[in-house]
Amino acid sequence: MSLPWLKENIEQFIPLVREQRIPHAILLSAPRGMGKVELAKEMAHLAMCENVDDEGVCFQCSACELLKAGNHTDLSVIKAENAVIKVSQIRKLTNDVVLTSSKNQFKVIIIEEAEKMNLSSANALLKTLEEPPQKVLIILTTNEVGQLLPTIRSRCVKITIQPISQSLAHQWLTSQTDCKEDDIAFALFLSDNSPLQAYSILQNNTLDDVRAMVKDMENLQKNTITLLEVSKKWFSNNWHHNLNFIAVILLGYLSHKNGLRNTNTAKLDFSIASEESGLLVFIRNIHQFSKRLELPLKVELQLEKLLLMWKKASSSTIR
Ligand SMILES: [Zn+2]
Repeated sequence: MSLPWLKENIEQFIPLVREQRIPHAILLSAPRGMGKVELAKEMAHLAMCENVDDEGVCFQCSACELLKAGNHTDLSVIKAENAVIKVSQIRKLTNDVVLTSSKNQFKVIIIEEAEKMNLSSANALLKTLEEPPQKVLIILTTNEVGQLLPTIRSRCVKITIQPISQSLAHQWLTSQTDCKEDDIAFALFLSDNSPLQAYSILQNNTLDDVRAMVKDMENLQKNTITLLEVSKKWFSNNWHHNLNFIAVILLGYLSHKNGLRNTNTAKLDFSIASEESGLLVFIRNIHQFSKRLELPLKVELQLEKLLLMWKKASSSTIR
C-alpha cells in the first residue's frame, strides 16, 4: 500500500543515505494513523539497501531481498508489552546490536510508541544514544512527543509527518476502497482526518458497529432496552473498543451545537438529549475507560458503570 503523503519525508532522507550522513537516532512523530511505522520501515530499508540511488532502494541487493521476505536479522522492532516497553527489551536489543555492529552493514532498531518506555527503559536507551555504535540507526516513533524525556529528544534528529488535507485523505481512501462517499467522510471524521485509521475503520466495518452503538444509546435513553442488555452486547462484540469514536461523535455534536464546527454527525440522527455539562463528564469518562482498557481490569463492570452514567446524563432532559 503506497502512502503518497510520505513521499516528501522519503525524498528528504535519500540524500542523507547517499552522502553517508544517516543520523544515529531519529525521532519520528505524527498524529496516530499517519504511517509513522511505515515511514520508519522505509527509512530502515533505505539505510540497509546496498545500492540506493536518487530514486530510492534497488529492490535487488541481498538486503532488499531479505527485507522483502521479512526476515532480515539486522532490522529489529521493539513494541510495548502490556502497555510498557520494559528495560529488558531495550537492554537485550541494544546489547545485541552493539555487540554485532560492523563497519559495513547498517543495523536498524525501530522503537514503536516510544512514549511507552518507563524511566529505566528510557535511561537504558539514553546510554546507547550517548555513545552511539557505528552503523546503527535507532528510530523512535511516537504520537506523544511531549511524554519523552527531554534528554532523549535532544539526542535525536526530529522528523515530523505533516498532516494532510481532508480532500487528499478522501482522495486516497477513494483510491484504496470501494466505499461510499458518505462512509469515507464519516470514517475521516471519526479518525480526525487520519487516513490509515479511517482505512482500518472502513475495512473492519466499524461504521456499522458505531451506528448500532448510537442506536443502543438512544434506546437506553428511551428505556426500550436495559443497561445490562447493552453492556452484554457491547462486551461480547468487543464494541467497547469503539467508545472513543462515540466520544468523537459527542464532541462533534457539542461543537456543532455551539456553532464551532460544521460536522456531518447530524447524518447519524443521534437525538442526544443531555445537558452539556453531563455530556462533557460522560466524554471524560469514556477517555478514562479507554485508558483502563490496556489494564486487565473487569471490563464488563466498567462498561456497566459507564452506561449508567450515560443513562443518568441523558434521562433528565429526554425529548
Ligand atoms: Zn537494495
